[in-house]
Amino acid sequence: MSDSLMPHSLADVPGLRVDPVSFAELTTLRLGGTPRLGVRCATQEAIVAACSLIDGPFLVVGGGSNLVVAEGSLDLTAVILENSSVTFGSDGLVRAEAGAVWDDVVAGAVERGLGGIECLSGIPGSAGATPVQNVGAYGAEISDVLTQVKLYDRETGSVSWEPASSLELAYRYSNLKFTQRAVVLEIELQLTTDGLSRPLRFGQLAGEAGERRPVAEVRSEVLALRRGKGMVLEPEDHDTWSAGSFFTNPIVPSAVADAVRARVAEERGKEDAARMPAWPAGDEVKLSAAWLIERAGFPRGYPGEGAPARLSTKHTLALTNRGSATADDLIALARDIRAGVLSAFDVTLEPEPVWVGASI
Ligand SMILES: Cc1cc2nc3c(=O)[nH]c(=O)nc-3n(C[C@H](O)[C@H](O)[C@H](O)COP(=O)(O)OP(=O)(O)OC[C@H]3O[C@@H](n4cnc5c(N)ncnc54)[C@H](O)[C@@H]3O)c2cc1C
Repeated sequence: MSDSLMPHSLADVPGLRVDPVSFAELTTLRLGGTPRLGVRCATQEAIVAACSLIDGPFLVVGGGSNLVVAEGSLDLTAVILENSSVTFGSDGLVRAEAGAVWDDVVAGAVERGLGGIECLSGIPGSAGATPVQNVGAYGAEISDVLTQVKLYDRETGSVSWEPASSLELAYRYSNLKFTQRAVVLEIELQLTTDGLSRPLRFGQLAGEAGERRPVAEVRSEVLALRRGKGMVLEPEDHDTWSAGSFFTNPIVPSAVADAVRARVAEERGKEDAARMPAWPAGDEVKLSAAWLIERAGFPRGYPGEGAPARLSTKHTLALTNRGSATADDLIALARDIRAGVLSAFDVTLEPEPVWVGASI
């Protein structure tokens, strides 16, 4: 938008609605205080105008499924993305605006027999956030299919399509995460068109490694697996009032992995130690955060009935709000788990979500 066409106040921006919201309403953890203002943006133009007109700090919010927000009054504006148009080309090229619900994009692609994102079924949140932490599940990542992103540069105010390679996508990382340098307005994916999935890489899915299977079959299998772990949002199920995996899987030097295995063998026997999940990650080894949490003495549901914030009863990697938790309850639980794993194995777990007004 040229400067002469730019509205001069938020109230004048078409497609923008000011809304008094709280982060307890905006996040899947259902925790957090109130921003100075919430602005809901239904178009890319409204997002750009909001970002340039807001006085002071602002936080872009999609589905709120990867946010841990402090309680109380927060000195920031929440810019809530609701631009949601999606186009599916017959050549497999998909463009999704940032505010589109990610799982609707996956469902639409699968309905059309487009392959490449079926393993990412059921991940909560928005399409625009998928590059932010390079979302991944069941052996697939958005980086496998992301071609380019349309970015609003928060420093210069410019809007441009940038290649996916410019984001430095890696395991649960991009140079957009924690930096707030740019807002993703739209993403572009190149999917396959023969009705088959990408070659499967994850053992829990039926079929041989490397096999390609009908996309709809893979999607329903992934959704069933995810539901069993409380990793699909269900309003009635407190096990899903979470931010998904709370800690990333730690990547450690192989000597550290060996030391963890030896410690487990000492305390729980060689058989258990032999089953320790470990995947090569360059010169290092990626361990399972969930496995370490369990072995450090934190079972599912920890610390037990009555606690307002608990580990999910379905998965030790999800920290959950049982309905009456505050952000402080959740943060105390996160600290407890992290300290326990550090003391048991000398491995520091790093939180996966973005923290606002609080830190571990
Ligand atoms: C039950 C559950 C299961 C989950 N499973 C997975 C999983 O399997 N794999 C996985 O990778 N993640 C998973 N997650 C985490 C989360 O769903 C993803 O990280 C998701 O991409 C976050 O999207 P969102 O729109 O909710 O982002 P938000 O929580 O709204 O925002 C997260 C961060 O991204 C920034 N952001 C959001 N949108 C944009 C944008 N358009 N441009 C720039 N910055 C932006 C925000 O400012 C914030 O810093 C899970 C979460 C839950 C609750």
